[in-house]
Amino acid sequence: MIKNDQWIAMLLPPEIRALTQDELIEKIRGLKSHYGDTAVILAHHYQRSEVVMMADFRGDSLELARRAHSLESAKYIIFCGVQFMVEMAAILCRPEQKVVTPAPNAICPLAHMASLEDVTRAWNTLSSIVNIKRLIPVVYVNSLSEVKAFCGERGGIICTSSNTRDVVKWVMRTGERFFFLPDENLGVNTCNALGIPKDKIVAWDPALPDGGCDPEDIKGSMAILWKGFCHVHTDFTLQQVKMARENYPGCLVVVHPECNEEVVGAADATGSTSFIVQYVEEASPGSTIVIGTELNLVRRLTEEHPDKTIIGLSDSSCPDMSLVNLRNLFWVLSNLGKVNIVEVDEKVKKFARIALERMLTL
Ligand code: SF4
Repeated sequence: MIKNDQWIAMLLPPEIRALTQDELIEKIRGLKSHYGDTAVILAHHYQRSEVVMMADFRGDSLELARRAHSLESAKYIIFCGVQFMVEMAAILCRPEQKVVTPAPNAICPLAHMASLEDVTRAWNTLSSIVNIKRLIPVVYVNSLSEVKAFCGERGGIICTSSNTRDVVKWVMRTGERFFFLPDENLGVNTCNALGIPKDKIVAWDPALPDGGCDPEDIKGSMAILWKGFCHVHTDFTLQQVKMARENYPGCLVVVHPECNEEVVGAADATGSTSFIVQYVEEASPGSTIVIGTELNLVRRLTEEHPDKTIIGLSDSSCPDMSLVNLRNLFWVLSNLGKVNIVEVDEKVKKFARIALERMLTL
């Protein structure tokens, strides 16, 4: 994979590489006013602050994809995020809109832990053990578009970190058990919140034959959870939460549900990136908030809320999110419609949209 500075050096022309940050900001502002509302920049909460500063809207992945769809005058959507996000915007946007990514090499390692090939193999094995018509696939939005489509084609549904509980409640009314992928921690934390007993949860390891599962355990399960994880959120530990409470007595600890269950169990609150942003906004002035999520968001919240003390549980950053920078943003804006246009296969689009729409109607 090509990373940051190499990416700039290898692909961007020397005249862009030579620009300072202030020059880039000025030029991007100039292009934004030139395009007006026909080109819109969307930035995920985990983007660098200077990229977020250039954005017309910021939010979590689903909020931004919905936003893209609702912007009737926007011909171009420049999406500052990782691959699954830009593809989701391309799946949900209008036919006349084009989605553009500044960094096509920015992927989500979690999404890539569940390839279509592995998921298909797992599904075929499961269908020889249980009644597959009563097994509902639930795919977290942080997944490959092909896997979302696989899910949509089989009566499944997408979820986000803010609505997983509601989606799983729906699934439990609809089927006998569910197959949750690719983030095991989000699955475990949701099962815990809904009171699903531990002996009804099975972990499916795609690296092992038959997922490393006993068929009898699968038959007795309510939830089969894919063993994938986000390396950014699994960096946080229970020990760090304990140390934070010792060092900052009375602090509030808020973490993302991709953290492991020990960390979530020790926190005061758990929720999506948008939830964390709102949690900080609504906290009383003078409060101390310790946050377990990606470093760019923690830093920005620190800058934006000087009346509160905001601390990261540890400095855990997502290198892929940081692949978008002012240089490649300027480059795509100055070549708008000619470079880095995101394409999603029509069949994938059709079935992924079915799974997304199932979620949106809940
Ligand atoms: S923070 Fe985790 S889930 Fe989000 S893009 Fe990075 S690796 Fe993927």
